[in-house]
Amino acid sequence: MPFLAPLSDRPRHALLDEGPLPLFIGGEFVPPISGRWEPTIDPTTELPLTTVAIAGAEDVDAAVRAARTAFEDPSWSAITPQRRTELLLQIADVIQAHAEELAVLDSLEMGGALWVNRWLAGQCVDVLRHYAGWPTKIYGQIAPAEPGKFHYTVREPLGVVAGITAWNGPLQQLCWKLGAALSTGNTFVHKPALWSSLSAIRLAQLIAAGTELPAGVFNVVTGDGALTGQALIEHRGVDKISFTGSVATGQHILRTSAADLKRVTLELGGKSPTIVFDDADLEAAARTAAAAFCQGTGQGCVAGSRIFVQETVKDEFRELLLAAMDAYVAGDPFADGTQIGPLASRAHFDRVSGYLDLAREEGATVQARGDWEAEGLFMRPVLLENVTPAMRVVREEIFGPVSALMTFTDIEDAIAKGNDTDYGLSASVWTRDFARTQRAAAGLRAGTVWVNGYADMSTGTVPFGGFKMSGLGREHGTDVLDAYTETKTVMVNS
Ligand code: NAD
Repeated sequence: MPFLAPLSDRPRHALLDEGPLPLFIGGEFVPPISGRWEPTIDPTTELPLTTVAIAGAEDVDAAVRAARTAFEDPSWSAITPQRRTELLLQIADVIQAHAEELAVLDSLEMGGALWVNRWLAGQCVDVLRHYAGWPTKIYGQIAPAEPGKFHYTVREPLGVVAGITAWNGPLQQLCWKLGAALSTGNTFVHKPALWSSLSAIRLAQLIAAGTELPAGVFNVVTGDGALTGQALIEHRGVDKISFTGSVATGQHILRTSAADLKRVTLELGGKSPTIVFDDADLEAAARTAAAAFCQGTGQGCVAGSRIFVQETVKDEFRELLLAAMDAYVAGDPFADGTQIGPLASRAHFDRVSGYLDLAREEGATVQARGDWEAEGLFMRPVLLENVTPAMRVVREEIFGPVSALMTFTDIEDAIAKGNDTDYGLSASVWTRDFARTQRAAAGLRAGTVWVNGYADMSTGTVPFGGFKMSGLGREHGTDVLDAYTETKTVMVNS
């Protein structure tokens, strides 16, 4: 596995030369009332990129009020469905026109390989265009009623949606929530993760300058979880929280939202199984199993962090898997050929390193691949072997380039082991036997099951979300209507 050293001429976006980056509230860029700012760090060099505002409670209050005003204003609430479609298409168009710079900002700030963030930016365009189709297709129902009565339902927007996101797919997570919220008629306050705010700030600039979206429909409050996020989830003017992040924060949001019964969608973590049967294309399965925990430096909610191979082909598959891991090229996200970049922050690097120490303490074999010395926040892909299902490294989400290899005997054993986790976000099954794919898909308790593939991420058409502790509710698909609207029943007596 080669390593490409940090480039001396790394891209520099004009946003980084604008000075401290303010909040985006009610269509205006405003400094934080809190007076607080924090640097944001490039994980490839560990040097500061720029400084972003930390919104305090008063700033969050201003953003929520702006979103409420916009929600009630006829310029948003009384527009035709066709006009709402047009506005969403305008957002998709500005993202498409500026996809490269948005991808660059994400790579600078969270260290993901540029080609991955380019691909994600392209997906954001598809997602927004998908959501642009909804406004003209949100129907109510007419219910059976006795003569002289007319009973029907309409779907109405919830109001102000707070979108709180993690740092591992900043633009993608924002666009999923923004598209869902706006297509259903809501207004939106976004709080990106503190480590990855730049693409959201830039998107705010692009939307302000390049679309006709009314002021206050989209707002950005940058900041940390304890101050900014907490103020947002406690705010009585927020009707719904759409959250992507860790289980612990998701649980905290659910508890806090109980105070006023905010609607909540939670996209949380995973410990997803890759299950390889003896009749599979082992070479393709091994290549994909490696990608499932190496790509994105393993910092993906759907990371394939547990690999189960049928006992009879274990040795052959193991060799192929190690070879596939060796083929990964780590390095500067902007270097040609880089497949994986650094971990996203020093704190996260320390956390993942702690799990490798724990694996050794628990008695696992820890094998790092690649013939380079890891420096800074770079980490070589790691395969854990000789593990037991009870080990913490097999049960807890590590969120780094680390996976555990285990075996199974038959399909019942594979399903039981795949399901032996508190999580249920996704699973990947490899077999050429159609009946097996059906049994495995039915038996696995996961929100998405990929057969002979991995991480075909939804661009809106199919739902995405988790069973068990991987989340609550779904994004995308027709499920999005339940997640972002209220159903009103109207009963008319003639
Ligand atoms: P995190 O929970 O620490 O933070 C996520 C967001 O919540 C950040 O914006 C953070 O500032 C905010 N936050 C933290 N405390 C808060 C509080 N008290 N009130 C309100 N907001 C608060 O998660 P993370 O470490 O940034 O992200 C990694 C996690 O995200 C992993 O568990 C990963 O699996 C998960 N994730 C899930 C999906 C999915 O779609 N299921 C996608 C990507 C990441």
